[in-house]
This record gives sequence, C-alpha cells and structure tokens, in this order.
Amino acid sequence: MRLVLLGVPGSGKGTQGEVLAAHYGIRHVSSGDLLRHEVAAHTPLGEEVKSFIDDGELVPDELVFSVVAGALDDAARAQGYILDGFPRTLAQAQRARASAPPAGIAVDAVVYLDLSDKVARSRLSGRAAEGRVDDGDSVIERRLAVYHHATQPLLGFYRALRLLRAIDANAPIPQVTATIIAAIDASAA
Ligand code: AMP
Repeated sequence: MRLVLLGVPGSGKGTQGEVLAAHYGIRHVSSGDLLRHEVAAHTPLGEEVKSFIDDGELVPDELVFSVVAGALDDAARAQGYILDGFPRTLAQAQRARASAPPAGIAVDAVVYLDLSDKVARSRLSGRAAEGRVDDGDSVIERRLAVYHHATQPLLGFYRALRLLRAIDANAPIPQVTATIIAAIDASAA
C-alpha cells in the first residue's frame, strides 16, 4: 500500500503516519524527519538545508528528492509506504508521478487531514514548547503561508485523479485514525 498524507503543519501527519504505518505494516517516510536527521548529523546536505528549514521555507527539490528517493525505493520493495510531508508542491507531485512503478513513487490514496489554521496554530505553539525550532511564532506563520501557496494546490491535483480522501482532523487522535482506516479500506475494497 502506498499512501500520501496532506494537511497544514500541525494537522497530525506525523502522528497519524506512525500509527497508520504500524497498522498496515508499511514504512512511515517523513521528508521533514529525513531532512532534520541530515541537519542533526551535520552532513553536507544537512548544512545546505538547515536555513530553509529554520526559516519555514521549502527545501529545493533536488535536495529533497536526494533524501526521499532512497527511502522510498527501500519502502516500495517492502510492503509500501506512507508519505508525510512529500510531495509538497505540484512540481514534486508531477515529478513523483512521472517516475511511477516499478522503480518510482506510486500513490494508491491521498489522505487529506482537514484542519483550520487557527487550530493548527495552537497545536504548533504547543509543539514549540517541546523544542522544535521551526515552531516559533513567526516561522509558524511562514509555514502556514507556504502550505497554502505551494501545497494546497495538490488537493485539486489528487482530487482530479480520484485519489483524495478528506478527513476531519479536529477529532481526537484515535478517532481520526479510525476514520482514515475506514476511508482507505472502503476505497481499497
Ligand atoms: P515537516 O516536518 O514536514 O513539517 O517539514 C519541516 C521542514 O522541512 C519544512 O518546513 C521544509 O523546510 C522542509 N521540507 C520537508 N519536506 C519537504 C518537501 N517535500 N519539500 C521541500 N521542503 C520540505
């Protein structure tokens, strides 16, 4: 199974990605986690991407593909993947789609975690208290703006492909998980 999670920062992609990966026995591939790992390890790539992440800007496509491609290749050879944070722009989605199976990045369903900016803001400020540097107030605003400008157009892209499953992400975590699983299983049946 190959899934994509979409939604504003703070909509629960990371949390649901973990839970769904365990449920379906697939890999949770978070582009943000992969990039943060490079930064923490002080690799040349990490040095290159750090300022983009700290400022809430998108990391250039070439750098993103270079970290994501290997992880997806591995996951595709196993049971599949749930993508969190990738693709994030129409260009990334088109490029991912153009490099479809057997070696490429296929998508069976796209789960859209629908949440207002207002609720997202309050969740993200909570997370800032836990120490994530790009969850400070001004960076949160930038990340929300970048989401609406660059990532939101993906909803129409995947809707047109009949892959989009919209989920109300306001509910408590276990309820959101159950709704997602019901939607995915219904479309796979
Ligand atoms: P996330 O953990 O998904 O919120 O991502 C954290 C940061 O990593 C983002 O604000 C971007 O700077 C960068 N990032 C993650 N995924 C991508 C992507 N697919 N394209 C560009 N930048 C990304």
